[in-house]
Amino acid sequence: MRDLLPYLKLYKKHWFGLTLGMVLALLTLFASIGLLTLSGWFLSAAAVAALSVARETFNYMLPGAFVRGFAMGRTAGRWGERVVSHNATFKLLTDLRIFFFQKLAPLIPGRVSGIRDADLLNRLIADIDAMDHVYLRLISPIIVGTLGIIGLTGFVAWFDLKLGLTLGGILLFMLLTWPVLFYKLGKNNGRELTQNRAHFRITALDWLQGHTELTLFGAEPKYRQAIDDAQEKLLKNQYINAHFGGLAQGLLMLVNGWTLVLVMWLAADGVGGQQPDPFVAMMAFATMASFELLMPIAGAFQYLGQTLTSARRLNEVILSEPEVQFPTEPVAHSGEYSIEFSDVSFRYDTQQPAVLDHIDLTIAAQQKVAILGQTGSGKSTLMQLLTRYWDPQHGEIRLAGKPLTQWSESQLRQAISVVSQRVDILNGTLRDNLLMAKPQANDAELTSILTQVGLEKLLEQPGLDAWLGDGGRQLSGGEKRRIGIARALLHNAPILLLDEPTEGLDKQTEQQIMTLFEQHFVGKTVLFITHRLVNLEQMDSICLIEQGEIVEFGSHQTLTEQQGRYYQLTQTLA
Ligand code: ATP
Ligand code: MG
Repeated sequence: MRDLLPYLKLYKKHWFGLTLGMVLALLTLFASIGLLTLSGWFLSAAAVAALSVARETFNYMLPGAFVRGFAMGRTAGRWGERVVSHNATFKLLTDLRIFFFQKLAPLIPGRVSGIRDADLLNRLIADIDAMDHVYLRLISPIIVGTLGIIGLTGFVAWFDLKLGLTLGGILLFMLLTWPVLFYKLGKNNGRELTQNRAHFRITALDWLQGHTELTLFGAEPKYRQAIDDAQEKLLKNQYINAHFGGLAQGLLMLVNGWTLVLVMWLAADGVGGQQPDPFVAMMAFATMASFELLMPIAGAFQYLGQTLTSARRLNEVILSEPEVQFPTEPVAHSGEYSIEFSDVSFRYDTQQPAVLDHIDLTIAAQQKVAILGQTGSGKSTLMQLLTRYWDPQHGEIRLAGKPLTQWSESQLRQAISVVSQRVDILNGTLRDNLLMAKPQANDAELTSILTQVGLEKLLEQPGLDAWLGDGGRQLSGGEKRRIGIARALLHNAPILLLDEPTEGLDKQTEQQIMTLFEQHFVGKTVLFITHRLVNLEQMDSICLIEQGEIVEFGSHQTLTEQQGRYYQLTQTLA
């Protein structure tokens, strides 16, 4: 139950709506029990009166008015209760989703790299939905039920103490045992159901996302089968769930029936020590109606297992500490954007060897450094450390003389422009895809930058309004890369990190981009990862990385004269 605590705390903010919902639920309940009880008494009393002298004096009007009042009150109350409590729970869910999202965002990529996207999505949707059950199915019915039992017991006991205590005792016994019984019965199935639902979504999304590839390799039926299997399991859980629900209701009716027999037997000799009169009918109807109190509780507790599993799945995310934490206050620095790695080591996994091994690298402000190295040697990782995508386990990185860990997030983002190795195109217009790098840019600026990177073709109708991403215009690899470059140039930060920006471009376009870079490099500190040995003489230094270690560092000229690894590389590729 402790797993639910973080969520119960959020309830505080909506206490008014939630309490009002319960008050309305209680009023509705009284109206509906009152309706049946009063009608029972009224019909039999009227019948008795008609057969006796009381025919003349019997007041038909007052009870009739109450019957009407209760009937209308019940309808209005139920409507009001639904409106109020749904409103409150939807607001609660909104808060909960935002709360979850705020906790989730800083955990990416470090903490959640072990969780599949589909699973995260499932947590964000289904598991959070399960949290409103806590109020609607558990807390509210239990509180309303308890108050209802007290009220009804008092009412019946007022007429006949023995009857009141008997009925109240049975109801209380049910209220205490039914939840425990059905929680225990439904627990395992509920847990499986939550897990199987997540699994079902994961397999379905896997199939959907990889559909093209799966079809091409003929593996589609196998993945399709995985969805069917997952669905089969989920259906089985739902089937069992429905059975427990039915069982709970059925048993409740049975107990209701026997309680009715008992109450009629007790009341048969007269209520409150009097001769048998219409009050006997009133007691019978009160008993029948009283079980309405227990209806919402009957099957609800079999869902507790599901809810607890969902809470646990959410807690796995919200209770983890982000690996990378940014200070809120910006750091004061010189404004000279130098970069220093001192004795930096990094590994993705404690089990695996270091990806970067005791790196020492100093880049003065406004210097341009090319980073070369074989695939997998750790070049992209080095760059990701600079953006604090990850933090190194050992050593320190300083930017403008200040440790990277002292930079606030927005300050760091403003200081660095990145063209990453894999450019992500977001679902949105071409304009949206560029504005993310510079929100205040106008259309003329966007058009000009697109022309500079050679993407004039994208400016044809509908131009900047063209929809990119899922379901929109698809871009070629080279076009995506140049969108990435356009973003970095728009962002125009004093430090520029480029991860193979010209990879996959033809020679002519590459040359166009390199010329563009030359203009933009002026006055900036540049880190340029490349496999292509062109224009490297224009760089201030060249840094050669092999298996996570810097093996050579110096200008094109020095390294060529040294006739070391760099020299060999230029010779083999020339
Ligand atoms: P390339 O030239 O192919 O882009 P790279 O020099 O940029 O290579 P990195 O991407 O830095 O290489 O990767 C260095 C090593 O770290 C590789 O062996 C890679 O498999 C591993 N690696 C990269 N990202 C992760 C990750 N998120 N988790 C675990 N290992 C990773
Ligand atoms: Mg790389």
